[in-house]
Amino acid sequence: VPQVELSSVSKQYGNGRAILDSLTLSIAKGEFVSLVGPSGCGKSTILKLVSGLSPTTAGEIHVDGMSPENARETMSFIFQEATLLPWRTVRQNVGLGLELERVPRERRHAKVNSLLDLVGLSHVGEAYPRELSGGMKMRVSIARALATGPRLLLMDEPFAALDEISRDRLNEELLRLREEQKWTVIFVTHSVAEAVFLSTRIVVLASDPGRIHADVAVDLAYPRT
Ligand code: ADP
Ligand code: ADP
Repeated sequence: VPQVELSSVSKQYGNGRAILDSLTLSIAKGEFVSLVGPSGCGKSTILKLVSGLSPTTAGEIHVDGMSPENARETMSFIFQEATLLPWRTVRQNVGLGLELERVPRERRHAKVNSLLDLVGLSHVGEAYPRELSGGMKMRVSIARALATGPRLLLMDEPFAALDEISRDRLNEELLRLREEQKWTVIFVTHSVAEAVFLSTRIVVLASDPGRIHADVAVDLAYPRT
């Protein structure tokens, strides 16, 4: 059973033009799928539909066999801008989802510590977001997204606002995490190099209206340096 399944999905906002036209896409557990294609072809729209933030106009989407609305707890979303709460420390930002899930304090603290360790931020747990660089904020966002153990991670150009060095480091980090954690990921990027580096599969979209132009497996033995 695929983890994410889009069957003949079409999307139109209001009574505007068709953004997606009868798109069918099936993603298995553990795949890291990058969506690439010209600006405006509907990449972010696909994430909004899969996450249930926006309804389809036609067709069906299933995540873990459920409708997106019912599968929300299985997913985490990472946006281009790290959206951290400014009045909460790094630790408190990472722990937020666990607090909402009423995870007992001791287990919560242990989890927060291991996540900070995972993204290399143990030394800034007590800092506030304004004290961090863009790359560090993005790491906090990643740690926060991972806190609730999502089975599906949706990322929308997460590194677009970062300088090249931070972006390269985070790409390395993400690759390592991907190999360790076995999530399923849908990753929107305008960088084909980034897609090749990170993905197990690249879906190229064409616009007007958005449809799949190419769908290729990435050879994991591809030399990375
Ligand atoms: P991409 O991520 O590939 O750049 P998007 O999915 O963001 O593309 O957008 C696809 C098209 O849908 C664009 O023409 C955009 O203007 C339009 N669009 C996106 N969101 C909305 C919205 N909420 N209302 C109306 N049009 C939208
Ligand atoms: P508490 O959860 O002990 O009442 P705070 O309200 O300051 O403390 O903490 C809020 C968030 O920060 C929680 O998600 C908690 O897990 C995390 N946190 C606080 N202190 C620690 C700590 N010493 N180690 C790990 N996580 C911590």
